[in-house]
Amino acid sequence: MKNALNSSTLLLPLLLVVFSCSAPQKNIENTAPILSEDTKTDTSANVYRPVKEQFKPEVNKVSNVNSQSCSDGKVKLTSDFAAGRMDECKRTGENEYSIILVPENTPINSSPWYAFKIQAEQVTDITITMKVRGDKHRYPPKISRDGKSWQLQSYQQKGERLIMKVKASPQPVTIAAQEIINNQYYVNWAEELIEESAFTQSILGASTQGRPIYKIESRGENTNEWVVILGRQHPPEVTGALALFPFVETLLSNSELSKYFLRKYNVLVIPNINPDGVHAGNWRSNANGKDLNRDWNDFSQIETRLINDYLQGLVAQGQKIKFAVDFHSTKNDIFYTMPVDYGVESSYFVRHWLGELDRQMPNFNVVLRPGNNPNLGVSKQYFSDQFGVHAITYEMGDNTDRTKIKSIAYKSANILMINMLSDVDHEKE
Ligand SMILES: [Zn+2]
Repeated sequence: MKNALNSSTLLLPLLLVVFSCSAPQKNIENTAPILSEDTKTDTSANVYRPVKEQFKPEVNKVSNVNSQSCSDGKVKLTSDFAAGRMDECKRTGENEYSIILVPENTPINSSPWYAFKIQAEQVTDITITMKVRGDKHRYPPKISRDGKSWQLQSYQQKGERLIMKVKASPQPVTIAAQEIINNQYYVNWAEELIEESAFTQSILGASTQGRPIYKIESRGENTNEWVVILGRQHPPEVTGALALFPFVETLLSNSELSKYFLRKYNVLVIPNINPDGVHAGNWRSNANGKDLNRDWNDFSQIETRLINDYLQGLVAQGQKIKFAVDFHSTKNDIFYTMPVDYGVESSYFVRHWLGELDRQMPNFNVVLRPGNNPNLGVSKQYFSDQFGVHAITYEMGDNTDRTKIKSIAYKSANILMINMLSDVDHEKE
């Protein structure tokens, strides 16, 4: 992974209160987010509309409301870049700056995202104090000088203030909540992935603000069964992205196992479902302030609707959705699954897969969290209810060692393929 953190730097204590992105949370899930008027009156959610395969959506000229800067003329802090965000910035004294983070709407899952650049005319030691309005910090700061390699930035936590001392210089540095994986990163990654292969990348459709949502596909000649991989419904959940990349690279590799697998199964990857949220540095939502992973019943948002339409279109053509994995991040590494007795086909398939992962990785404790909540609107449940198959929410911890994230992903993808190719009876334990 290009943006792998120095693994030894991430063994830090978790001081921060975080929420699971997938587990039910009474105070959040039962309250409708603040929606814009046009979203509330959208009645097209359940209307099947075929998705145009090839068109170039134009990004609407939406100003980045989170774009801020503060400067004393010699030192400058800015968030005017893709995924940049600091909601308020003030100079509070000689070489002292205060940043306040504010969510895009409330109530909201506590994932305060920030990303800003610092530059100075000459080398200057500055102090930054960062607070979250009405909430607490979740992500320890990382620093990058080239936008590619990241290290933990040292900081002090005083109450709810996070205080950093940074050396500003003419060479800009970026400080962010996690490694920045912006929309362009996905495009570059996919181009590299499909280079000299039969895989395709195309635009599934346009997001709320008109950004392209890409899909990558591997289609075998004589197969109609699909594995679906989803990512980045929640913009700050970067460790989920850091797992999705090697997971997909393993499925779509040149290995003998992959070649055999891809003759039996098609793969659909939609790695970045919420490009507007990623661009804006949102904590959770799409451009309408909606949590997309609570929208898989209502399809009130174009992002989820596009995917549902596409999958229903595949099924209408006689294709079969066989399994889905949706990548996220939370405090710890957890696999949210559907219960064995939920009534989907191959009841023990996920248990067999992840049980084998647990056996093959003695240093990784596989935590399975089966659950069934038909009203929540998460993708995992949608796949099971719509297509009668298993699906999981694959959660990597915010601070899980980046090298470990990769090895879990490689291993789990390989075992998944073996599991799906074997003639083991998954209806039995
Ligand atoms: Zn999530």
